[in-house]
Amino acid sequence: MPELPEVETIRRTLEANYVNKKIVKVEVLYERMIKSPLDEFINKVTSSTISSFGRRGKYLLINLDNGYTIISHLRMEGKYFLREINEELSKYTRVIFTLENGSRLCYEDVRKFGIMYLTPTTKVNEFEEIAKLGPEPFEIKDASYLHKAFKNKKVEIKAALLDQTIMTGLGNIYADEVCFKTKINPFKKANTLTLKECEDILKASVETLNDAIKSGGSTIATYHPAKGVDGMFQTKLLAYGKEGKKCPVCASTMRKAIIKGRGTTYCPHCQNVALVIGITGKIASGKSTVTKLFKEKGCPTISSDEIVTNLYKELEFKKKLIEMFSPEVLNDDLSISKGYIKNVINLNPNKKKELEELVHPLVRAKIESFISSHMNEKMVVVEVPLLFEAGFENLFDVIIGVQASSLTQINHLNARKSLNVAKDLKLNESSQFDKNAKKCTYLIDNNYSLLDLRMNVDKLYLLILNS
Ligand SMILES: [Zn+2]
Repeated sequence: MPELPEVETIRRTLEANYVNKKIVKVEVLYERMIKSPLDEFINKVTSSTISSFGRRGKYLLINLDNGYTIISHLRMEGKYFLREINEELSKYTRVIFTLENGSRLCYEDVRKFGIMYLTPTTKVNEFEEIAKLGPEPFEIKDASYLHKAFKNKKVEIKAALLDQTIMTGLGNIYADEVCFKTKINPFKKANTLTLKECEDILKASVETLNDAIKSGGSTIATYHPAKGVDGMFQTKLLAYGKEGKKCPVCASTMRKAIIKGRGTTYCPHCQNVALVIGITGKIASGKSTVTKLFKEKGCPTISSDEIVTNLYKELEFKKKLIEMFSPEVLNDDLSISKGYIKNVINLNPNKKKELEELVHPLVRAKIESFISSHMNEKMVVVEVPLLFEAGFENLFDVIIGVQASSLTQINHLNARKSLNVAKDLKLNESSQFDKNAKKCTYLIDNNYSLLDLRMNVDKLYLLILNS
């Protein structure tokens, strides 16, 4: 999707080529694109002369000499092309403006998401979508404006930067660049930013957008008449799209997370973003102990077993289990009988699958919300026995596999007073851990004393911190 710099590039290109050109004919091939009355659009635009091209945020403004303006938004992939008199039109042409010399300025749009709207030039700012736009970074003279606006925003700064009602101009690409340049943790809540941080953001926003405009926007060939505009800026991006690459400043691995549904790339080291650790292993391998040792180091931790236990207490979830299994799933005290569920799913693989399809997304959502509320820490640790079975690998920056021999497992099970050690050990057979152990970033061997384990965790903690 074109961002502000691309639209500005298009504006400049159109301005250089089409000012003072008379439009002798307008053909609308896709009527739903025109959001104002079609007859009026055609009547007013026909025989008018283009006086200038303006821009407000990502809206392109085609100002006509008769006091009207066409507001044009390219949305996903709208483009303007010049088609000469004998040139064949693209099948994606939606609006044709024929000029006096017979050449045609064509609006082409594969996905037809773009819109055009005709309004008196004096009323452009009243157009609903334009009216709600905040100022562009270039127009903000004092960062205290941002500081004040962010005070009411309890969302992540990345999300606040994308909120065009506060400041218009940064889309997903440039918001990542601005967070990276200012070394601000994109998960940091907007209302906790200092004035100095807001000053840095404003400065970086102006610089980043200016750089992008200078390089002609980052979308390759947004505008492509005879003198096409090719974006060269993409090679200059520092953060966006660099997941897995080395940070250009500190050489740590760049990571990607989702903030309010948008991919966000950052350097965990430069921007002080928590590393997300998943701990997994077979039954009674010592995962909980390892998790506890990380907790002692000050890391926020959560276990998915704990999440499931709480889930079983939720009324909505209970209703779904009753639907899935029958009311027999309830104990006398109306709690859920895990024993009953275990028996049914052991006998019926389809029920097992159905249950997993219900539980895994709910657990995943709770884990994601826990992680995102702790991204200002150094590390956040999640214990997930079924990490591989549930396909949760991509939630974590680092996966620690805890390994234990069956003798160690038996000792642990006896120590927890397991009622049926043999049955518990049978879970090893369905565990996907051994098969996936190579996917773990680190393996920790838990066949020795607690002191050994503690020393290993200490070492690992430092190793992860400095990776
Ligand atoms: Zn870095």
